[in-house]
Amino acid sequence: MSEQQHRNKSGFETRAIHAGYEPDAATGAVIPPIYATSTYKQDGVGGLRGGYEYSRSANPTRTALEGNIAALEEGERGFAFASGLAAEDTLVRSICRPGDHVVIPDDAYGGTFRLFDKVEKVWGLEHSPAPVSDLEKVAAAIRPGQTKVVWVETPTNPLLNIGDIAALAGIAHDAGALLVVDNTFASPYLQQPLTLGADAVVHSTTKYCGGHSDVVGGALVVKDLDLAEKVGFHQNAMGAVAGPFDSWLTLRGLKTLAVRMDRHCDNAERVVDFLTSHPKVGDVIYPGLETHPGHEVAQRQMKRFGGMVSFRVTGGESHALQVCERTEVFTLGESLGGVESLIEHPGRMTHASVAGTDLEVPADLVRLSVGIETADDLIADLERALA
Ligand SMILES: *Cc1c(COP(=O)(O)O)cnc(C)c1O
Repeated sequence: MSEQQHRNKSGFETRAIHAGYEPDAATGAVIPPIYATSTYKQDGVGGLRGGYEYSRSANPTRTALEGNIAALEEGERGFAFASGLAAEDTLVRSICRPGDHVVIPDDAYGGTFRLFDKVEKVWGLEHSPAPVSDLEKVAAAIRPGQTKVVWVETPTNPLLNIGDIAALAGIAHDAGALLVVDNTFASPYLQQPLTLGADAVVHSTTKYCGGHSDVVGGALVVKDLDLAEKVGFHQNAMGAVAGPFDSWLTLRGLKTLAVRMDRHCDNAERVVDFLTSHPKVGDVIYPGLETHPGHEVAQRQMKRFGGMVSFRVTGGESHALQVCERTEVFTLGESLGGVESLIEHPGRMTHASVAGTDLEVPADLVRLSVGIETADDLIADLERALA
């Protein structure tokens, strides 16, 4: 089947396994080699084979990953980077110029907030925070003529707020701005923002896409060819590309994304059921719960509700810290989206840098990245830790 057919006709799982690479013509190798090369022999000056010239510009292992993730997001072009933040910086500076303005989530991933607040701002880009779940506030934060990007995450981290992607695209486009969606928490299996009107998708492939906590990476997927050309130019000109081994690991991870995500969702649902009936647990935050304010929108735009669960304990911060330190199957650590379950205290760990700002999170909040271990073991572990 040709690349184009994979993109247009195949189901998600088939694209995840086949898109971006055809078995090698010379050897039949089913999996792309890790092309550990910086340069390529030219057949006469300028006689490039397949366009490969230098591995910052393009490398065949990275090309396979880029084709694969573009197919999964149903975009035109994919680009792989050394980290999620490198992808973000490249996208922002492909679109914006000093003096421009962007709207960002008021509960953005901490590293994203720091990038806008401490790096892009110095460079001359202004930003205003707005809650992704409140369309009126997002619209009000736009400065007509100056706002070039409305940047959203959905679900957000760690409070799992939901933004209505189609409605946000309408608001951004009415103002002449682009809608960028950080799709890290949902993964392309659960949500395809480009099909809902977004102009660009960002991933920290470190998380669900890679899925095994063994690689740091980022990706961008766009649907407009003019934007693709700008991003391609900046990817090469700025140089924060994914290396061949990292690309290979990420591509390997993507092949199993669908089955992993379904198990992440199954296990998260079991954990949510357990937590909602536990006397020492207060609010359980999960977009799959009917009580979640974004439930209806999430149901419309996501296939399922994901593997991230946050909850508040009734015993305050000290109890939250105890729970985090007592689990044995859930590993105490930052990051998310790997096969192993992780637990963390956002207030003291991932979100410590936003203490005292509008982005501060409750001190009794615990965040889980529910992995794909045996669900009964995860529940028994939480039961012991909460006791
Ligand atoms: C981790 C993360 C990032 C940053 O990605 P890195 O790969 O760590 O640079 C961006 N957005 C979200 C939602 C994340 O979880």
